[in-house]
Amino acid sequence: MSESDSTSSTSPSNFIQQIIREDLENNKNEGRVQTRFPPEPNGYLHIGHAKSICLNFGTASEFSGLCNLRFDDTNPEKEDLEYVDSIKESIRWLGFDWEDREYYASNYFDQLYDFGVELINKGKAYVCSLTQDEARQFRGTLTEPGKNSPERERSIAENLELFARMKAGDFEDGAYTLRAKINMQSPNMNMRDPVLYRIRRLHHHQTGDKWCIYPMYDYTHCISDALENITHSLCTLEFEDHRPLYDWVLDQLDIASHPQQIEFARLNINYTVMSKRKLKQLVDENLVNGWDDPRMPTLDGMRRRGYTPGSIRNFCDMVGVTKSNSVVDVGMLEHSLRDDLDKTSPRAMCVLRPLKVVIVNVEEGHKDELILSRHPKDEEMGERKISFSKTIYIDHADFEEVPPPGFKRLIPGGEVRLRGCYVIKCEEVIKDSAGKVVELRCSIDAATLGAKPEGRKVKGVVHWVPAEESVEVEIRLYDRLFNHEAPDATDGDYRDFINPDSLEVLTGCRAEPSLRDALPEERFQFEREGYFCVDRINSTKEHPVFNLTVGLRDTWAKQNR
Ligand code: ATP
Ligand code: MG
Repeated sequence: MSESDSTSSTSPSNFIQQIIREDLENNKNEGRVQTRFPPEPNGYLHIGHAKSICLNFGTASEFSGLCNLRFDDTNPEKEDLEYVDSIKESIRWLGFDWEDREYYASNYFDQLYDFGVELINKGKAYVCSLTQDEARQFRGTLTEPGKNSPERERSIAENLELFARMKAGDFEDGAYTLRAKINMQSPNMNMRDPVLYRIRRLHHHQTGDKWCIYPMYDYTHCISDALENITHSLCTLEFEDHRPLYDWVLDQLDIASHPQQIEFARLNINYTVMSKRKLKQLVDENLVNGWDDPRMPTLDGMRRRGYTPGSIRNFCDMVGVTKSNSVVDVGMLEHSLRDDLDKTSPRAMCVLRPLKVVIVNVEEGHKDELILSRHPKDEEMGERKISFSKTIYIDHADFEEVPPPGFKRLIPGGEVRLRGCYVIKCEEVIKDSAGKVVELRCSIDAATLGAKPEGRKVKGVVHWVPAEESVEVEIRLYDRLFNHEAPDATDGDYRDFINPDSLEVLTGCRAEPSLRDALPEERFQFEREGYFCVDRINSTKEHPVFNLTVGLRDTWAKQNR
């Protein structure tokens, strides 16, 4: 950070902050900073949107400015109120607040229409009847200039009348468009007389059936920004070629404000897809269980999975803001998550695949009330109670009859420590008729509660729960939704790379008694297993459901430190 840097941010300043700082020094926009987050309500927000949310809200707050929420709702065909609601909830969950500045591009339909009339009056727009196919032919290609529409020189009076009749519903869908009169020879295709309005008889979630003409995105976006007195309009790189059109529209119109469009690189993450169209397809084709499926990169899915808003904000900070596209390792996102969860999650024990263990040298009804800390480094989290009794469960994975090399857990005749409890020794292995291990008979060394065993070392520690008092829970284990690093960028269909093992449901798991009262979205570290959170949709008091948020092992941190 430079010495003159007066902001309190701990991260080095990005190029957008530098531009804004310069603008402030030059008293541009009277020292005001106002941004906006402009989602189209045609799907749920994903982690890519989080980057834009953090950038827009974060930048505004850094410069004591404001950030608006604006729904870019110019294409009612794909939009829906369900999406509007979910988008608002996700932004709030992430920790940002647009206060009373909730806007809709559709709020401006009347003004957008009037600006269309203004453009016609200035000889800068015309009504055109070329069909979509014809318009495409006239547009030319990247290497060939376009040709003027035969209707380009229509009189202003005639254009005004036709535009009014388009609005009045006199024409069929697609019969006419309103086009900007710019330059059909421009090397920038976006400047070749782009369509500003089209006729579409569609019901709109905000304006109902009031309109049968709808403005196009490029035309709407810059005017909406200007009407809201946005100072810096931050968008992703693919809009760089649209900036001349953004500026052209505002330059023609009698409109006081002219926001500055600045482009940044979108967030891409490996092992996932991040286009709303594809995410919607996954939902519509039942390849996942809805937009909020915990395997989805949607904010709703990530929330359900157990991601904390802080870990997502921190990740967006780590990724930074740049001008060149790149792909971020999903391990970095998980690292940020673990970092947060390690500090904030109370510990608990849960046996995923229970194996019954009967202690042969304690009486029926024996009970040791044990007190364990809820967090090894944070005393304030307090303690939890768990009682040791004659019958307990350990995990099937912690016992091997024929141990592989290096196996440090329980084996026939071997010893292991129960976490926070005694050292036990496996005396007998009980199998069913199929030869499957169904029960162990073990003895405790009564001198090992809180003390080292005499004269020998016991290396392994396993987690356990009391049989009777433990709570039966369902556990949903998740793995990556795609088993290809770049499911999007391969020759095949991204759906061919869906990981068939991305969800495993375990029932009959046993959790320690303190988990009986866990609330939806509460997060825990299940010792030796990973971070888990109570499913906010399906979990009930009678049938608790926990989602695996992320495992304990952080390979990303090892490689990047
Ligand atoms: P998608 O391509 O996923 O459909 P979109 O850009 O069409 O996304 P919008 O609703 O228009 O979705 O996006 C709202 C804002 O979020 C826009 O400013 C857009 O640039 C930004 N945004 C979308 N995806 C990303 C991403 N992957 N990284 C950063 N910003 C993004
Ligand atoms: Mg978009």
